[in-house]
Amino acid sequence: MDRVLVLHYHEIWLKGGNKNYFLSRLIAAVKRALADLPVSAPQFICERLLIAPHEEAAIPTILERLRRVFGLAYVASAREVPSALAQLAPLACEMMAEKNPANFAVRAKIADPDYALNSMELERALGRAVLDHLRARGSDVRVKLNDPQVTCRVEVLPGKALVYTDRVEGSGGLPAVTGGRLVALLSGGFDSAVAAYKMMRRGAHVSFAHFFGPPSPARGSSKPIAEEIVRVLTPYQFTSRLYLVPFDLVQRQIVAATHESYRVLLYRRMMARLARELARAERALGIITGDSVSQVASQTLHNLAATDRGFDLPVYRPLAGDDKSEILRLARQIGTYKISCEPFEDCCPRFMPRSPAIFAHPEELDRAEVGLDIEALVTLGLEGTAALDFRFENGQVVAREAVARRLQKLVARRKNATGPPTVAPTSGA
Ligand code: ATP
Ligand code: MG
Repeated sequence: MDRVLVLHYHEIWLKGGNKNYFLSRLIAAVKRALADLPVSAPQFICERLLIAPHEEAAIPTILERLRRVFGLAYVASAREVPSALAQLAPLACEMMAEKNPANFAVRAKIADPDYALNSMELERALGRAVLDHLRARGSDVRVKLNDPQVTCRVEVLPGKALVYTDRVEGSGGLPAVTGGRLVALLSGGFDSAVAAYKMMRRGAHVSFAHFFGPPSPARGSSKPIAEEIVRVLTPYQFTSRLYLVPFDLVQRQIVAATHESYRVLLYRRMMARLARELARAERALGIITGDSVSQVASQTLHNLAATDRGFDLPVYRPLAGDDKSEILRLARQIGTYKISCEPFEDCCPRFMPRSPAIFAHPEELDRAEVGLDIEALVTLGLEGTAALDFRFENGQVVAREAVARRLQKLVARRKNATGPPTVAPTSGA
């Protein structure tokens, strides 16, 4: 078969001395994504990767898998031919005749220093050949360099040329798991899934923390929604851990002990504190949230600053400057949109204040928390936390209960230090 898949990367180009590291991780990710499919190992030639599929029928699945490999700019299913114009032109003509466009352009990249033509000369020669061929078949096709209906792309490499007319956009970014670990606060809504994805695309290996309350009769539990989102995001980074943190008791304490206008901000502070402990167990370098500035009351600049005060890990908010429409577009693209549309009982709408604070000061939140035994509440949340491990294997994501040893040790240490987590009883708020 003369089919070859050509894989291009872009940002890795910008890497100086680290380029080989990122390239080797990209190649490892490509191999892992395609491990169960009939393809050759990737071959690195002149700043691109080439893969030979062994079966034509597998190409759509291969392309679909490659769409999730971070670091790739685009991928094309090309036909390979000797690079001499006498062989190249008939193939370009044949492929363009299949497309039968009203207008077209030819774009050539030459990566063979000994090739007889430069890229402009090759584009002209092939453009003329294709034009004559299509017109001889009765078409009134013309050349259109700006926004053509079909572009015939040619890449000349030493000893061979690749020709294609369609390409699949890649995910971009940097290869998976090249940048250290982060813990994403994952609610089940649209935003936090997209926020986690954006940081994964920058090479972070993301673990997830979901805080859940009891399901209401009308709406289901949020836990399966969070699990489903992690399932969809795992192929991008191959392995994920999801922590499921019970939050009901913590919320009840906040409701019982603090003024209602600060509730949501205090939930956020407690979530961040619990996530910080999980980050410690994961040896993670920061946390991620799906906040988008001023999208809701808890996300005004004042409230975000008040929530973060005193927090000693970096908080990444990759959606801070994004509009909802941009976030939803990305949610659709990565496959989390439909899952986040499901109705579920998040822990946050429970006990929502009628009039939330919009311009909270950090000191106001500190004062509001005076009646809470923060450390006991953190231990309480951690003690009930369960963990699931997800792994992408043979085209499927498998999940199993995780043995979170470092978390268990952390809880044991906290209980030794502070005694068992006793919190004051609350009236059934
Ligand atoms: P999302 O769509 O991610 O739920 P949102 O616009 O609904 O975001 P909020 O509900 O105010 O905003 O939540 C802000 C951020 O706090 C979320 O993006 C998420 O990172 C975190 N968060 C909120 N609820 C939870 C939860 N139940 N579990 C984990 N993280 C949460
Ligand atoms: Mg939400």
